[in-house]
Amino acid sequence: MIEYLISVGANVGDRAASIDRAVAAIARLPGAEVTASPLLETRPMYVTEQPNFLNGAVRARVALDPEAMLQALLAIERQLGRERGRRFGPRTIDLDIVAAGDRVIDSPTLTIPHPRMQEREFVLAPLAAIAPQWRHPTLGATVVELLDALRDAERGAAAGVS
Ligand code: ADP
Ligand code: MG
Repeated sequence: MIEYLISVGANVGDRAASIDRAVAAIARLPGAEVTASPLLETRPMYVTEQPNFLNGAVRARVALDPEAMLQALLAIERQLGRERGRRFGPRTIDLDIVAAGDRVIDSPTLTIPHPRMQEREFVLAPLAAIAPQWRHPTLGATVVELLDALRDAERGAAAGVS
């Protein structure tokens, strides 16, 4: 069994319903035990001219290796009507593997921990509700520490500190 942390997001259609269905589908994966965070409304990052997102996080113990887990999550995205358009653009559902225990993976299809998790409050804030003490295997910081560092950096940027 691997303890996965998964980021879930949606900004098209009935966002909460899509996320509920995705969480239910994750719970049907082999051996799955699932804990889902509360959902959070967030502003889009990167491509800002698109609707707000609803984001959450899921902690799931699953009897799949990371590559099989990625394929399972991509299949769930397809079942929920995900169409791949512009990078970082609107989506009915996005399921990203944030972490797989303390594994570090860098393959053509999979980068774990997710390479942008530490810059994304929409990933870290929901994670803090379900896995506050998970420690990033290469950065060495917990979810709570990463979230505090990000908020400090944003406060510094807003105050004009470089
Ligand atoms: P994004 O989530 O970055 O907007 P997509 O959801 O379209 O982009 O994902 C595109 C591809 O990202 C997937 O097909 C997968 O091969 C790759 N990928 C690499 N690392 C991960 C990860 N940790 N979780 C999910 N997908 C990943
Ligand atoms: Mg994705």
